Amino acid sequence: MLHIKILLAGLHQEVNTFGPGTTTLDDYKRKQYLLGEDMFTFAKSHVRCNEGADGIAGCYLTLAEAGAEVISGGFISAQPGSIIEQSVVDDYIAHLKAVAKANMPYDGVVLFMHGAAQSLGSDDPEGDIIEAVREIVGDDTPITVGLDLHANVTRRMVELSNTISLYQRYPHVDIWETGERAARLCLDIIAGKIHPKMAYVQIPMIIAASSYSTETEPFKSLMQKGHEYVAAGKLYDFSVSQMQPWLDVADGYSSVIAVGEDADEAARIAKELAADLYGMRHEFVTELTDVDEIIHIAEKNESGKVVVLNDFADSSNAGSAGDSPEVIERILALESDVRGLMYMNDKPFALACREAGVGNTVEGLLGATISPNLYTPVKVTATVKAVFDGVMPYKGMWVDFGPSAVVKIRNTVVLVTTQHRYNGLLELYRAFGYNPSDFEMVVVKACTSFRAFYGPLTDLIYPAATKGAATANLLSLPFKKLPKSFYPFEDNAFTPKVDAWGRSSD
Ligand SMILES: [Zn+2]
Repeated sequence: MLHIKILLAGLHQEVNTFGPGTTTLDDYKRKQYLLGEDMFTFAKSHVRCNEGADGIAGCYLTLAEAGAEVISGGFISAQPGSIIEQSVVDDYIAHLKAVAKANMPYDGVVLFMHGAAQSLGSDDPEGDIIEAVREIVGDDTPITVGLDLHANVTRRMVELSNTISLYQRYPHVDIWETGERAARLCLDIIAGKIHPKMAYVQIPMIIAASSYSTETEPFKSLMQKGHEYVAAGKLYDFSVSQMQPWLDVADGYSSVIAVGEDADEAARIAKELAADLYGMRHEFVTELTDVDEIIHIAEKNESGKVVVLNDFADSSNAGSAGDSPEVIERILALESDVRGLMYMNDKPFALACREAGVGNTVEGLLGATISPNLYTPVKVTATVKAVFDGVMPYKGMWVDFGPSAVVKIRNTVVLVTTQHRYNGLLELYRAFGYNPSDFEMVVVKACTSFRAFYGPLTDLIYPAATKGAATANLLSLPFKKLPKSFYPFEDNAFTPKVDAWGRSSD
């Protein structure tokens, strides 16, 4: 077999421009900061977990299985959050460039990233990374990229890459497969089996992520149409981006990418899917229910299934801070004895509870510690039930919620943490000794992805009309850069055209 050498790397983070503070190097080190061999060790031992980390494992294992020599450019990833400190991106790019130069030449490059990052000095860090690599490897080396379905795919990213593949499912249960797709396309280009043309069509719209899923109509049929084109041999790959809607950048779009041997066919299909997506815009709505009403539903529910109050506006996977006390405020105001289970990120309160110790009562203010502009803290009386170091084992990884306390407020169990992390997993509460099925109401601060875990448990899932940096009411957010000609700011006619082509692989 021919010896082939591939550079594999990526920076993976979704940014919410409206979230508080910045994302720092510590936030990356707390999740994945995998340079050199660490990236391989991680990829080899990684167990599928529906996180960005799946993607780098999917890439690596596909390349390694094909017998490729893989050079690690490093993979770094942080919890979705606020705008990234520029030094994090600069240091990563400097490392990647040094490794890339030291190991030249390459047969190909595979990058796995999110696509909706933003740093203090750049609205397109992924474009900066692809550009840095392209400058080193030259024009003739294929670069294939894997991204999230919520990526802001920029024209620059397209023009610098040979192919770009996004997750095709939301909830994101195909992250591993997206890594495989990116790696497979690179291998096939190198082998001369394919000479893909990548057509890219920008769509001037953003939609709240809580308003759609690829498992439900109308998005489901649109994705099905794309899969049928691939199955019929008309495309190698396709992607539909619904741009992460809390990202305020001047060069931001939803988009469609079609990758095929025939440029005309790729262009035609990309335009068709883009027109379809824009045509669905009025059907993408989040049906919101008042918090009080959801609490009443949970109190009266006799189905035996747990009611999920989905506080997606304070979502950990959309860059909010997890410090909204809105639900606990309503439980207290209603004097509700609903058997609730919820999660709150509140460092001072968690530390006060730990200080007080198990069995004791803490009176204090809960919530709004990170987002005082959004919320008002709530005066609570809490009984400390347990304290934990907050490190949750999860499929071979560790999710670090920081020193935590479990308290009871009225009849609701609240896990109070010092770090905001993805909390859409059933394992979260189980790790602290509580089973969501045993409660009348569970509060989940996450967007659609949690449905992959809670969906099999219950169909009583209610997106709540709460406030937050990840609100579905995009018109309420202080966008400064995104063009106002976008839907939903305006509702204009749209004629798709090919806005950019990827690099030729001929
Ligand atoms: Zn996403």
